[in-house]
Amino acid sequence: MPTETQKPKERLVVVGNGMASLRFLERLTERAPGRFDVTVVGAEPVAAYNRVLLSSLLGGEVDEAACGFRPLPWYEEHGLRLITGAPVTEIDRANRLAVVGSAHVLPYDRLVLAVGSLPIRLPLPGIDLPGVLTFRDFSDVAAIRKAAVEHAKAVVIGGGLLGLEAAVGLARLGVDTTLVHVMDRVMERQLDHAAARLVRTAMEARGVKMVLSANTAAIEGDGRVERLRMKDGSVIPADLVVMSVGIRASTALAQSCGLACGRGITVDDRMTTSDPDVFALGECAEHRGMVYGLVEPAYEQADVLARHLLGEAATYPGTSLATSLKVSGLPVFSAGIVDTPEGAEAVVMHDAAAGLYRKLIIADGCLAGAVFVGDISEQARCKALIRDRTPLDPNDRDDLMFGPAPKTLAA
Ligand SMILES: Cc1cc2nc3c(=O)[nH]c(=O)nc-3n(C[C@H](O)[C@H](O)[C@H](O)COP(=O)(O)OP(=O)(O)OC[C@H]3O[C@@H](n4cnc5c(N)ncnc54)[C@H](O)[C@@H]3O)c2cc1C
Repeated sequence: MPTETQKPKERLVVVGNGMASLRFLERLTERAPGRFDVTVVGAEPVAAYNRVLLSSLLGGEVDEAACGFRPLPWYEEHGLRLITGAPVTEIDRANRLAVVGSAHVLPYDRLVLAVGSLPIRLPLPGIDLPGVLTFRDFSDVAAIRKAAVEHAKAVVIGGGLLGLEAAVGLARLGVDTTLVHVMDRVMERQLDHAAARLVRTAMEARGVKMVLSANTAAIEGDGRVERLRMKDGSVIPADLVVMSVGIRASTALAQSCGLACGRGITVDDRMTTSDPDVFALGECAEHRGMVYGLVEPAYEQADVLARHLLGEAATYPGTSLATSLKVSGLPVFSAGIVDTPEGAEAVVMHDAAAGLYRKLIIADGCLAGAVFVGDISEQARCKALIRDRTPLDPNDRDDLMFGPAPKTLAA
């Protein structure tokens, strides 16, 4: 018989079972297995999977199984109770309860919100017509693939990273695909005009019709989508519309229980919300005014939160962002600033015929931005130089532009 009364384990409820949630659970269980009594609630019907691979899934390059991370037995083996297919509908902070519809009431001592974001649906006339879809999860990919029968006409609205990837995926399925984008260049936050032109040409070579500076006025159809009407009066036929115009952090649950929110759920450097026992991480969190839409910050936050909950000193300083496009045969990388500010220097190498572009922006002796199309082999180095603000060595710019010099010269 134990001589001392054992302290009951702290109850930890994790809301959301996406990429940030799983990374957090992995870090927690690696460092201190069994330390908390953990319940994870995921709205999707399956356990966390690799959302980043959805573009490849859409284009048929991988199957659903390849997107899986941890099988259900992994959760059991690590003592994690996983509830899938049901969202947390209410948080009662006064009584420390997370409510899952009429199915479960989960008492907690600490609560983690990892609820991600929602795709934005533009408030256009016709937005609710059948055939107007978004691109965020397994069920979206299944719906797009179902609608994307051969010879169907698809329009992707949005020329950001996901819009481009969705359009290439659809074209690969043999669908007549048009991408419309409101700006005069694609990925305008990551690419300058010259780089964006190369990407546009490469998209066209993959069979995607590109319509830029295009404003959608309405989505029209009799009972389901048939066409897009543009503000200039032109019409684009469409059996299927994929809306990929950005994401919005999921804050509804946090707001409804009175947590401080801006564009995301406000957190400090320890991922703590305005309630000291409630934490947020991943795309739903707003840290120092930033809401991230990439997986790397979510993973860094997950690591910090796991360590913090285990009593270690860990703080999250923010993430310096880098983006790469996942279209096979079209390497594109961008990090830091894109346009050259006053007083900074731009070093550019551009070979349009070969589809090659490299631009370095150097400010105060450090790399402040890099845009590469066609060859992104120096991406890791650029990312580190920008993040660490390491002063550039005189050889660095040549290496980054033309590749590292050979170690020894041939006789
Ligand atoms: C097609 C596509 C391609 C991408 N490509 C890249 C890429 O190349 N590089 C990159 O860095 N990032 C990419 N991303 C973004 C990346 O997937 C996200 O940054 C990452 O998934 C964020 O993790 P998260 O856990 O915050 O959110 P998510 O992974 O979205 O997980 C949140 C989960 O919470 C669930 N949830 C929401 N509300 C509730 C509730 N009330 N109760 C229970 N569960 C709830 C959601 O259903 C979801 O499963 C891509 C995203 C998409 C859609």
